[in-house]
Amino acid sequence: MVRRAGRLLRSGGLVAFPTETVYGLGANALDAAAAARIFAAKGRPADNPLIVHVADGEEAAALSLAWPAAAVRLVRAFWPGPLTLVVPASPVVPAVVRAGLPTVAVRCPAHPVARALLRAARVPVAAPSANRSGRPSPTTARAVAEDLDGRVDLVVDGGSAGIGVESTVVDVSVSPAVLLRPGGLPREDIEAVVGPLVEPTPGGPARSPGMKYRHYAPDRPVVWLRRSPAEAAAVVRARCDPAATGVLAPTAVLAALPEYVHAVDLGPSAETAAQRLFEGLRRLDRIPAVRVIVAVWDSDRGLGLAIGNRLAKAAGEVWT
Ligand code: AMP
Ligand code: MG
Repeated sequence: MVRRAGRLLRSGGLVAFPTETVYGLGANALDAAAAARIFAAKGRPADNPLIVHVADGEEAAALSLAWPAAAVRLVRAFWPGPLTLVVPASPVVPAVVRAGLPTVAVRCPAHPVARALLRAARVPVAAPSANRSGRPSPTTARAVAEDLDGRVDLVVDGGSAGIGVESTVVDVSVSPAVLLRPGGLPREDIEAVVGPLVEPTPGGPARSPGMKYRHYAPDRPVVWLRRSPAEAAAVVRARCDPAATGVLAPTAVLAALPEYVHAVDLGPSAETAAQRLFEGLRRLDRIPAVRVIVAVWDSDRGLGLAIGNRLAKAAGEVWT
């Protein structure tokens, strides 16, 4: 399977595969026509650049014009793993992959299937999440098929993706480094290695064009209830019809809401919540009686920052 997937990638095909964050939709990153097929299959806007997956730091450095000191330290500390680095791009990276930017995003994934695939392909693999643009990212092969059946050449099934939210994206082409997207590697861990990260300049030219789109959203409207577990249950009960509301919440909150039968348990921690977030949104979206999905989350610590970021983009409304 992995050898066939590698051959397909080398010859311009589209292969969906598991990573430790979410499932990716891969194509040869050095082949502009292959990369363009990713945008077509996902319905992805052309100004949203792709992350290029590599087998190791050397392959990443070969795609860049300069390899900043911060990149050296971050690679040593966190690769392979859920960290994407934005660096000045070498001209070998086609413009379609970079969405015309002078930079390229690179990541070395830790998932054994992804690593075997990259070795078999012997080319860097551009891979955004394997969902239709705007939908929740897939954490299972079934979710990939739900969105992309008939639009990809092969789906490699590797079970559930482990972390459940996408990689953390850090721009090291500038100093101090910018946190473009919180994700599967906690901000605190990165700052322990390179010092404080800064926020993208508000209102400035979008450094990371993907940030401007509605994202991660199921078909039903999502409300983000940004309250502590102690307060959230009372708000749900006061404002939501148990028959028509899907509730996605930490275990402690659901324990206080037994009448809400359309419920997904995010578990006791940010780690379990990250694993269950996207699949939970998809699951509640499949229940005909559910008219609205209420997601309860309020922590910014560890993976909590990425969870809040995804909910902010998926939700049409935030209740505080
Ligand atoms: P995904 O859709 O999960 O693959 O995420 C890709 C995201 O990585 C994009 O939406 C951008 O936010 C970010 N990204 C990729 N390439 C670049 C780049 N060259 N500069 C800035 N951000 C990038
Ligand atoms: Mg995505």
